[in-house]
Amino acid sequence: MEKPLKNLLHEHGFSLKKAYGQNFLTDRSLLDEIVSKAGVTKDDVVLEIGCGAGALTTSLARKAKKVLGYEIDVKLEPVLKEVLQEFDNVTVNFSDVMKNKMSDIEKKLGEKYFLVANLPYYITTPIVMRFLEEAKNIKGMIIMVQEEVALRFAAKEGTADYGAITVGINLRGSSEIVMRVPRDKFTPPPNVDSAVVKITVDEDKFKAVDFQKVRNVVRVAFSSRRKMLVNNLMNGFKLPRVAAEEALDRVGIEKTVRGEALSAEDFVKLTDAVYECLEA
Ligand code: SAM
Repeated sequence: MEKPLKNLLHEHGFSLKKAYGQNFLTDRSLLDEIVSKAGVTKDDVVLEIGCGAGALTTSLARKAKKVLGYEIDVKLEPVLKEVLQEFDNVTVNFSDVMKNKMSDIEKKLGEKYFLVANLPYYITTPIVMRFLEEAKNIKGMIIMVQEEVALRFAAKEGTADYGAITVGINLRGSSEIVMRVPRDKFTPPPNVDSAVVKITVDEDKFKAVDFQKVRNVVRVAFSSRRKMLVNNLMNGFKLPRVAAEEALDRVGIEKTVRGEALSAEDFVKLTDAVYECLEA
């Protein structure tokens, strides 16, 4: 029988910190469902960012071979020690995950891994972007995020939610919303509902692509959403109109489109054309 969260935190004199996005989950069946949607098995290594009071960590520890957690709030150390005492396959590192080098995190994980987390909302997009851009061994992410952010992650081209982060995800794989979670499932409840997004990383999707260049083009394309792509290219790359139009023409993109109409594939092709113009 698990101890109620309020008693657990009270016994350790712990008070929740809004600044760290400490909205904890306690519903065991919901947590188990998240782990099951992640497809984690006894052969898998898992990275959890933000262990909190260890509720998701417990579900992960029961299913995975090994769990490496990061938790910024060192005051949670005695809480996690108590909650995770029965597991010998979990290690929690008490530090800001963003201040750890990716190579050190991946060295500790030791093999390919899933990122499974109820992410702190104040830093969701930077964490996801960083793992998409820098992680070498990630197989996928199953992450709880604000519903509004989930809609952006999984948006279709041409919709208002489609943006640089959607393209960033599509450059490395694909994403889907697998679960909606109402705000009252959290302690304390946040002001918005949440959703679980599954991001599958496909290593073979784009090979021999200079992702840094593609990201530059994506950033420029979405720099002013109301402007046509051609204008954003002209401003962002200091290209004359004729060169920007030629780049679009070369890859068969209409001169009047906005960035949100382009797929990840389109952005990869457009990047070659833009850099050829820049280097000409
Ligand atoms: N996993 C727990 C759960 O589901 O109940 C807690 C999730 S809570 C939304 C996010 C957790 O991330 C908090 O415990 C917070 O202290 C931690 N956190 C916030 N920023 C962090 C960072 N930069 N690095 C590591 N952990 C962080």
